[in-house]
Amino acid sequence: MAWPIPISLTKFCQKTLPLLSHQVKEDRLMETVATIIETDQWNSFDHFHDTTKTLVRYYQDADVDVEVTSLPTGGKIGSGRWIIHQAANVKKATVDIVAPVDQRLLDYHENPWHLIQWSGSTPTEGIESQIVIINSRKELDRIPARGLAGKMILTDLNPRHHLRKLISTGAVGVITDRPIPNSPEAVGWTKFGWGGIPIGVTGDQQDFVGLVISKTQGIKLRQLLQKHDKVTVRTQVDIDRYDGSHDVVSGIIRGADDPQDELWVLAHSAEPGAHDNASGAALCVEVARIITELIAQKQLPRPKRSIRFLNAYECYGFFKYLEDTRRLQAPLAGVVVDTIGSKSEVCNSRLEWHATIPMSAGFVDRVGEAIIHATLNLSNPGYQLHLEPFVSTSDTLIGDPKYGFPTPWLTTHHQAQNVGFDAYHSSADTINLIDPKGLATCVTAIAGYLCYLADAGSQEVIELTTAETDWTINQLQKSPEKSAAKVNYIRHSHQETVNRLKRWMWGGDRKEILAHLDNCQLQVQETASSITSRPITFRKVQTQEEDINGQVYPHRTVLLSPDWGNNTNPEIRLKMEKSRLKPWALFWADSNRSLKEISDILSIEYGKKVTLKQVTSFFEAHQALGYVKLIKAKDRISKSQLVADLHQLGLEPGMDLIVHSALSKIGYPIGGADTIVEALLEVIGDEGTLMMPSFNHRSAQVFNSMTTPTTNGAIPDAMWRRSEAVRSLHPTHAIAAIGPKAAEYCEGHLENGIWTENSPISRLIHGNGYILVLGVTHESSTAYHVAEVSMPCGCIDPFGNIDRIVTLDGTVAEVRGLAFRAGVCPISPAELNTTLNNLGLQRQGKVGQADAALVKAFDLWKIRRQHLKDACPSCTIKPSIRE
Ligand SMILES: [Zn+2]
Ligand SMILES: [Zn+2]
Repeated sequence: MAWPIPISLTKFCQKTLPLLSHQVKEDRLMETVATIIETDQWNSFDHFHDTTKTLVRYYQDADVDVEVTSLPTGGKIGSGRWIIHQAANVKKATVDIVAPVDQRLLDYHENPWHLIQWSGSTPTEGIESQIVIINSRKELDRIPARGLAGKMILTDLNPRHHLRKLISTGAVGVITDRPIPNSPEAVGWTKFGWGGIPIGVTGDQQDFVGLVISKTQGIKLRQLLQKHDKVTVRTQVDIDRYDGSHDVVSGIIRGADDPQDELWVLAHSAEPGAHDNASGAALCVEVARIITELIAQKQLPRPKRSIRFLNAYECYGFFKYLEDTRRLQAPLAGVVVDTIGSKSEVCNSRLEWHATIPMSAGFVDRVGEAIIHATLNLSNPGYQLHLEPFVSTSDTLIGDPKYGFPTPWLTTHHQAQNVGFDAYHSSADTINLIDPKGLATCVTAIAGYLCYLADAGSQEVIELTTAETDWTINQLQKSPEKSAAKVNYIRHSHQETVNRLKRWMWGGDRKEILAHLDNCQLQVQETASSITSRPITFRKVQTQEEDINGQVYPHRTVLLSPDWGNNTNPEIRLKMEKSRLKPWALFWADSNRSLKEISDILSIEYGKKVTLKQVTSFFEAHQALGYVKLIKAKDRISKSQLVADLHQLGLEPGMDLIVHSALSKIGYPIGGADTIVEALLEVIGDEGTLMMPSFNHRSAQVFNSMTTPTTNGAIPDAMWRRSEAVRSLHPTHAIAAIGPKAAEYCEGHLENGIWTENSPISRLIHGNGYILVLGVTHESSTAYHVAEVSMPCGCIDPFGNIDRIVTLDGTVAEVRGLAFRAGVCPISPAELNTTLNNLGLQRQGKVGQADAALVKAFDLWKIRRQHLKDACPSCTIKPSIRE
């Protein structure tokens, strides 16, 4: 590949990878696979909970932390959320032929694959019915409603795709003998729905039973029918369907320095196959084992950050978990491990590494590629590495660049490109499909990928950015005749990677590192603009595009992509299906791209014309589900309007200013939060300094000034990330500033302490600075705490607690941080708003749609002091000191 492997990665592959490889134990790995199958094979929620117990035990034995998150089934059905409708425990399922012969056809307890998932139940004594063969959709369509009342349908169709029609025939149920390639004895894993019965299928489903037999069994049954033309079966199915739960099991290797920052491995459980996916879950356990063993033997340092292995129901487990568990920031990166470690003959020697979602940060693909290559050089069970494009598994949707994290997929699923292995989703997917050496190789590769990424720091960021830049420039130059749109697309991918790589910054000089990154982006930009662009040409498509105004800007409101398969009302789903776009097209809805621009981007991504009509249908469907808001062009606010509003409010060139803000109150600025920052900078000009709170309020366990987000909102978060911003070093209440006095304001924050006389905000107060509140009130104006400390008040101790920070040299240090008051201040800061208005000390107006006010910081400080004058001396509230 034209990707120059960074030195740190080469060293890692030489030094660490052999250690990892050596530590893998094939026997215990295979035993783990076998044990997981023992319970998952029953395809029943009570047994899925048993798998939870197994995995918990394994992770505990591996000496890693374990968390079990129980997710309820049921709830907002129809919402598009990843909700399993009902839990289902299987108690019994048998079919007996009662006439013309007496013979057992199938028994779930002998082979659990015989039962369709989400099947209905029969009365206890069973139900006798005559068999009717329906072998095509055409035949099925000819049956009138209730035309097969009381019958049992035998078909080689997959019932999942025809469920509504099958039920409408009034039949008791369906037996499918759909064939499995090259395995006539195998029974196909069949479901009526993925996470439940799809919305829109009638309520009768509760009684509609579903069973599966092998092709061989099907032939015999069909022969019997031919001979006697009347075959009667008795079916007994007992399934307990109820509002229950399913589990997300996390095994966590806690990071040494910042355990809160995580990499995620997704390996679904709750499927009956050995290859799909007991092998994936077992891989997680083995990776956890070998890393902790090497740490214990002091052969490997504990990585800086945590590695979380997640085992849960495919999509329904992971996506619901991602949505439900609030975290300070998304994981850095991840990997999907699904259907792994097969024998070479099963996968035709194909070890596939699938890219993360297009436009996610693709450097992870290259890092993984290098590590897998190096692993295969150490030990190769006969695999050939195939680099493949993104495929939705659909777990890989978690690679969403906005709400997820870059996530490639390692697999031995395919025997040819896009062709699954023969035994896929059938009872032939047994443990003898797995090659212990093959699975061990996958363990090493994944362990390597995780260890490298979990421990990378600023040096790796620089190296990886350089490598990505060389690679991107190479992509651009490879065929210089590219359309402008294509060039832009490549450039944007590079930008996404660079932005994501900033998450790994750890120690060193922030300005220097960012200068390198900016320079890399500039190089790509220069190459891009030197390329001759030609107009884009696609095959002509018939549309009435003129009718649609593409100047509408979709804005994401919900995590990830919805469940179109089972949990969406049919009318909305139809709209989505009509668009013929892939679910991940949603990721372009960043409120800065119009529908028209998105259709252009998708045309590049798909390599064929995507019409505005398709895109409109797609986003209207998402809007109807509440996943996006479509913003009209006229509702967007331009920078020039913001600048005018700020001038009107009284902002002037040369002002120093701290801003507290709520983006949602302002409306939808063109270009998002960054535009607000730029408008502010434009108004105060080169002589003014802009300051914003950059606090995390101790939601960060370890403060890394280069990566820890602020919880003060989107505008301050966009502001501190800018290359020209200075961010003070304070574990919980950092300040960010841009302008000539930025460094001066931010200096010594840690030593001087929060809100003290020499703190950044105090310097602003006493340096003739201003406070601007945008869509919030002065209850958000931190400056009043500076007044409190100056009283002095007895309730704030700037050095009362111990917190942790990443220092410049990359070590984690304990520092003295804020102990805030343990009770509510008797003098409400809300009074500031009233007094400032009464005294005519603040100017009020609108900025965008937000109410805004501008006040001299000193005035606010003075008034807060007056308010507190009598209260502080007698106040008994003390600082809250942690143990
Ligand atoms: Zn599967
Ligand atoms: Zn799978």
